[in-house]
Amino acid sequence: MSTSRERTRSIWMDVKVSPRAPMLDQDLTVDTVIVGSGIAGLSTAYELALEGQKVAVLDRGPVAGGITARTTAHLTSLCDESFKNLIDVQGLDVAKQFYESQAASIDRIEKIQNLESIDCDFRRLLTESIILNAIIGSQ
Ligand SMILES: Cc1cc2nc3c(=O)[nH]c(=O)nc-3n(C[C@H](O)[C@H](O)[C@H](O)COP(=O)(O)OP(=O)(O)OC[C@H]3O[C@@H](n4cnc5c(N)ncnc54)[C@H](O)[C@@H]3O)c2cc1C
Repeated sequence: MSTSRERTRSIWMDVKVSPRAPMLDQDLTVDTVIVGSGIAGLSTAYELALEGQKVAVLDRGPVAGGITARTTAHLTSLCDESFKNLIDVQGLDVAKQFYESQAASIDRIEKIQNLESIDCDFRRLLTESIILNAIIGSQ
């Protein structure tokens, strides 16, 4: 996605992530090349590197300077289109899988925050699982 037409600003847009990341000016031999240094590319690179892979992340712009720079950093297991709509269109099993995968991602992010001692304010709100249980309970 091109970010050139995005007008929103976030508080971390002015933070330079890895400003000394080198230009690719030589051949490299790696296990995996990832194109894109947003949250998707960097998360994948992180997990692969933890597994012992040699990973190169390429980007045409600044590291984490795409849409990721504009996030409000709100993590949720809820569905933008509402669980009611998701259940109506895809069924309860898919909706549950969606919820569980989102929740597992959030757990993973919290784990990484602790593992890497990342200094951020990670707060959990329990309301969403209460809402989901209410929706599923009403089916
Ligand atoms: C205002 C706003 C608020 C948001 N708030 C939230 C939120 O609270 N919670 C949430 O979960 N999500 C939020 N999002 C969505 C979230 O930010 C995005 O879904 C996420 O950052 C996308 O990450 P990404 O790694 O897929 O893409 P990007 O961060 O855009 O990364 C893609 C990277 O690939 C690079 N690239 C693309 N093509 C090429 C190429 N051909 N060669 C080399 N490099 C290339 C780009 O330069 C870029 O750095 C928000 C989005 C916006 C706009």
